[in-house]
Amino acid sequence: QKDESDQPNRLPLDLGEKAVEVLIAVPLPQTFTYHWPFEHAPRFGQRVVVPWGRQKRIGLVHGTCAAVVTSAGVDAYSLKPVEQVLDDGSLLDGAWRQLIEFAARYYHHPLGLIALEALPKALRVLNARGEEPVMVTKAQAHADKRLQARQTPARGARTSADHDPTQADPAPPPVLTLEQQAAVQACSVAAGFTPLLLYGVTGSGKTEVYLHAVEERLTRGEQVLVLLPEINLTPAAQALYETRLAPYRVVVLHSNLPELQRTKHWFEAATGAADVLIATRLGVLTPMPRLGLVIVDEEHDPSYKQQDGMRYQARDLALMLGKQRGVPVVLGSATPSLETWQKAEGGQYKRLTLTQRAVTGASLPRVELINTANFPAKEGLSEPAMQALVSTFEAGKQSIVFLNRRGYSPQLVCGGCGWVSNCEHCTAHMVWHKSERNLRCHHCGAAQRVPVQCPCCGNQDLTGFGRGTQRIEETLAGLLPKATVLRIDADSTRNKGQMEALLDEAHSGRADVLVGTQMIAKGHDFANVNLVLALNVDASLFSHAYRAPERLFAQLMQVAGRAGRRGGEATMLVQTRYPQHPLFEALKAHDYERFASHEMQARREARMPPFSYQATIRADHRTLGNCLAFLKTARELGDPLIQPDEPVYLCDPVPLTVVRVGGIERAQMLIESESRPALHRFLSAWLPLLYEHAGSVRWFLEVDPVEL
Ligand code: ADP
Ligand code: ZN
Ligand code: ZN
Repeated sequence: QKDESDQPNRLPLDLGEKAVEVLIAVPLPQTFTYHWPFEHAPRFGQRVVVPWGRQKRIGLVHGTCAAVVTSAGVDAYSLKPVEQVLDDGSLLDGAWRQLIEFAARYYHHPLGLIALEALPKALRVLNARGEEPVMVTKAQAHADKRLQARQTPARGARTSADHDPTQADPAPPPVLTLEQQAAVQACSVAAGFTPLLLYGVTGSGKTEVYLHAVEERLTRGEQVLVLLPEINLTPAAQALYETRLAPYRVVVLHSNLPELQRTKHWFEAATGAADVLIATRLGVLTPMPRLGLVIVDEEHDPSYKQQDGMRYQARDLALMLGKQRGVPVVLGSATPSLETWQKAEGGQYKRLTLTQRAVTGASLPRVELINTANFPAKEGLSEPAMQALVSTFEAGKQSIVFLNRRGYSPQLVCGGCGWVSNCEHCTAHMVWHKSERNLRCHHCGAAQRVPVQCPCCGNQDLTGFGRGTQRIEETLAGLLPKATVLRIDADSTRNKGQMEALLDEAHSGRADVLVGTQMIAKGHDFANVNLVLALNVDASLFSHAYRAPERLFAQLMQVAGRAGRRGGEATMLVQTRYPQHPLFEALKAHDYERFASHEMQARREARMPPFSYQATIRADHRTLGNCLAFLKTARELGDPLIQPDEPVYLCDPVPLTVVRVGGIERAQMLIESESRPALHRFLSAWLPLLYEHAGSVRWFLEVDPVEL
């Protein structure tokens, strides 16, 4: 935390000063001091190779040491020297530095970890021989070539190699509706940091607004960052942006890309060779020198929250990025997060509303509830649901069956003795995966073959209890023997290319019924779906997780939004025991605002986010007692730090609902405050004390936690 110079890129290096502060990817909050044996001055963000114990590591120059005698009291010349400088200059500019420093402060996470993990692996990890991987040079050369081509005046020739002459000419872009025009206009006139909420019903053509807003920035010579919640959405987005924005260069970044490609694309974004970066959450930490606009599509999506390492919320970092860079940030959603909605209601975010579906004649589906008390489900499907599936198939239309649970059955049970397929490492059942012929724990990943007889009593009559997507798929195949039923979930799309193949079939119309988890609910523009059936939603209505209703409502609105996108009558059926629930009233009316105001009121009364700010300390250990004891100590250390004028509440330490995963017990403590600054001041004072008391307990902090 030593060097906070105002001009991050020009470090004040005196010839007498020969030590540098280096960021290294280790879970420690400090920087590390090394001797700088070179003539030329170090620059922020230059990658260097430094000795680390008996190994060598890649680090990033973060600052210079003000004097020969460092804080540790040693003289610079007895410091270990930086062995090698990997970069001549640095692509990690002052703007990038500002963002990662903000993230380190806000999430109270080691800066070295954040900084290095933001880079593609090839840039931060030496190969087995202790050298920089060759792919870095390749990727760099690739980006340089692109950059040079970009800077030559004949722009048009630049990406012509990308054009595939075998492809038919794309359909001409639609003429914007008046609402779309107004939204595009608002994005274009936005100057400086402007948060905009593009609030548009499903199918209202938000993508078309993005495309126009992006293009307008590109003509000004600016770069645009487009964040999407799911890897699965990137291929279609890339194809669309490429065709519509040619000859501008569009690249994608997500964690499933082959390493070389990822490194190339990163360099293209960071050198400014690429104009548009389409990325999942990790993309927000990519340097973009000409950044002019940030778009966060489906901003409410929980996938923007990273669930390990630095537990950041990419939408929130995107807003900070926009603020630091002085550029507009467009958040798009049909069902904004309550955090975002509150800011739009309060006027901090400018709201742009699209009330109508863009395609002429297309309307939102009619929502009907099937009360399972009156129409009991057989194999998961009620009579009216079955009829609707049959008549939709006979009419030559597609159906979606939405069930947020994968596998065949959540548990396998013995009718003889009551044995249940529990995971031996977790407080969870092993899920029966019939397609893969095994039992799998969705928490620790353990898998085993399906037992032919009960391990307890030898009974051969083992049955699945409850149903997941595989079982519904089987039922549907029986109900509609002539239909093509496709299942889209994390299992059926595990291998590369599977998701694309399934989506191709869905879009081509060859598939009649799509059954799947929330994966099918997100973003896809299906042309021919006119029935959506939602199963097994009741658990979320009464979940103790306070965000469960918000999430359920968003999912149901999203999946409803897949139907009737090209006109015609469309229907959504929801099977439930609780048809009177207010959430369904709002769903039937497609009335997000009604739902939001109801939910907001409940949150306000309970002083829940967004009316309060939270953090959690998680403790993991082989014994639960140690977890709880550590949290209790943590609380005792924290209590005296609370300022009377800045109340912060430390709640009782509690075991997690799924307390044991992979043999490790987990507990947590919630920290709450009605003031964000108060919460952060408290955390800053408190966390250093925890490092000293953790013993063998592994712990971490999560700011703005979301339960799953
Ligand atoms: P959203 O993201 O809001 O759910 P999309 O951007 O996917 O909606 O648009 C839904 C469909 O409407 C797409 O097929 C798109 O091509 C079409 N569309 C968008 N704008 C228009 C328009 N102005 N006129 C006709 N069709 C449009
Ligand atoms: Zn048994
Ligand atoms: Zn397990």
